[in-house]
Amino acid sequence: MAKIFCIANQKGGVGKTTTAVNLAAGLANLKKRVLLVDLDPQGNATMGAGINKGELKSSVYEVLLGMGNLKDARTHSETGHFDVLPSNRELAGAEVEMVELDQREQRLKIALSSVRDEYDFILIDCPPALSMLTLNGLCAAHGVIIPMQCEYYALEGLSDLVNTIKIVHAKMNPDLQVIGLLRVMFDPRMMLSQQVSTQLEKHFGDKVFKTIIPRNVRLAEAPSYGVPGVIFDAGAKGAQAYVAFGKELVARLEKQ
Ligand code: ATP
Ligand code: MG
Repeated sequence: MAKIFCIANQKGGVGKTTTAVNLAAGLANLKKRVLLVDLDPQGNATMGAGINKGELKSSVYEVLLGMGNLKDARTHSETGHFDVLPSNRELAGAEVEMVELDQREQRLKIALSSVRDEYDFILIDCPPALSMLTLNGLCAAHGVIIPMQCEYYALEGLSDLVNTIKIVHAKMNPDLQVIGLLRVMFDPRMMLSQQVSTQLEKHFGDKVFKTIIPRNVRLAEAPSYGVPGVIFDAGAKGAQAYVAFGKELVARLEKQ
């Protein structure tokens, strides 16, 4: 039975998609069976996995609205060696269209239940908002992985996210927990990065992953080739950090 994780942070551009795609490829490399769910109308995870979002026959949009089957919408990343439930701009409409539906925050959970036994991990790339889409991700998941940049404003948004997770845990999904905070785009030369990083460790202790993802241009270049960074340039510092993160996550789960 798959462990289901949301990669979430309502702040934009903090490395959610880069984390989701590279963790998916890193886990696939460890021979884990992985499904990556793109829950963002931007479709960045879809493209980053080498799938053309402009040519989808069916996507997560149809699945959420009950107009299509997950098994028909799902596709395979040839470059990352994992399955993908892709998305594109159509998904932006789901937010409003789902308002009318029963159990609207549980739609993704219900859809994923039919494939949970086919995977070891299901990773959900959330959009940059605490929206109905993100709520669907949180209701479907066992845990949340929060990527964050070590800068001053990062901490401000964090309490809103942690509060939302607490509410979902209390009212909708008792399985949900914060798996951990992942420091990304880290620049060790910046004094502020070091300070915020230390502050995070103080506040959140073991919830902060030991692995730190450095700022690395090869990770930023990889999506334009439709290849996950860990495969695009396996020797690059960023790629190696994401591989190490995958191993840390697996080890952490084995200890639980
Ligand atoms: P959004 O909120 O729009 O979905 P996001 O949180 O998913 O954004 P990403 O798309 O993963 O963030 O990253 C934002 C930008 O930063 C992208 O251009 C990405 O290539 C780049 N980036 C992410 N991580 C790194 C890194 N470790 N080093 C260098 N560039 C990075
Ligand atoms: Mg993204």
